[in-house]
Amino acid sequence: MLEDISICLTARARWRSLSYEFIEDYSHWISAAALILLLFWETAVPFFASFFASKSERAIHCGRNVLLGLLNALMISGLFVGSWVWAAETSENIHLGFFYLLGLDGWIHACCSILLMDFWTYWWHRMNHRVAFFWRFHQVHHSDRKMDVTTSYRFHLGEIFLSSLFRTGLILLFGIKLWHLAAYEAFMFPIVMFHHANVGVPKEIDRLLRLVIVTPEMHKVHHSNFQPETDSNYTSMLSIWDRLFRSFKLSSDSHGIAFGLEGPEREHKALNEMLKAPFGS
Ligand SMILES: [Zn+2]
Ligand SMILES: [Zn+2]
Repeated sequence: MLEDISICLTARARWRSLSYEFIEDYSHWISAAALILLLFWETAVPFFASFFASKSERAIHCGRNVLLGLLNALMISGLFVGSWVWAAETSENIHLGFFYLLGLDGWIHACCSILLMDFWTYWWHRMNHRVAFFWRFHQVHHSDRKMDVTTSYRFHLGEIFLSSLFRTGLILLFGIKLWHLAAYEAFMFPIVMFHHANVGVPKEIDRLLRLVIVTPEMHKVHHSNFQPETDSNYTSMLSIWDRLFRSFKLSSDSHGIAFGLEGPEREHKALNEMLKAPFGS
């Protein structure tokens, strides 16, 4: 009898680990497919056709953003994935965390974790705009004057370091499992790529989509160089947070939006300019 229970528990633990690995692999493939699809879409029907004078100019722009994304991915895999695994396993082993206290299990636990992570990302992003210290790092994301799908990779290492650190605390505090984290990223990353892409969606479809997710119409407003517009539409995946916390904003003329930050010195074109940006005056 005890042996049966032990085999059953081992199989269950193995299944959990497999489901995490499966979703994580799956999320990488979805993200890669989304990137390729959106690059093709931007090439075929760009929303702002005048962004790049030549193919090489576009390639250099994309290359810099993706390189910054790769540096972040290296930092995360070297410094944080281990701490997220440790935090999730610790909270699962001793049932530490608010969701365990509530006795949540299965899909309800997973849905609450995903909602919580998206809610946290909304407030983290809003804080990045409100607190001068965090804005020093976040401005690098906003300094791109030619926003396209690769802008979704353009975050300063300091911003990703801090958000990854907070995420470890969030996992412990609420009892988030690894596969919840992987499932959140499987949904969130392709949506983030989509709303940064230099593409337009027919108005009716955008209107329907933004009932649930953040759309290109919404995020274009967030990247406007006009600050009252920049300080809006903070959410990453679900549009409900902007509606709930009154930061939802649309533009009557998306084609008239100018991206980036005001001032020639704040464009941060080269990689070293992006990396040094937070430490300037
Ligand atoms: Zn922002
Ligand atoms: Zn953005």
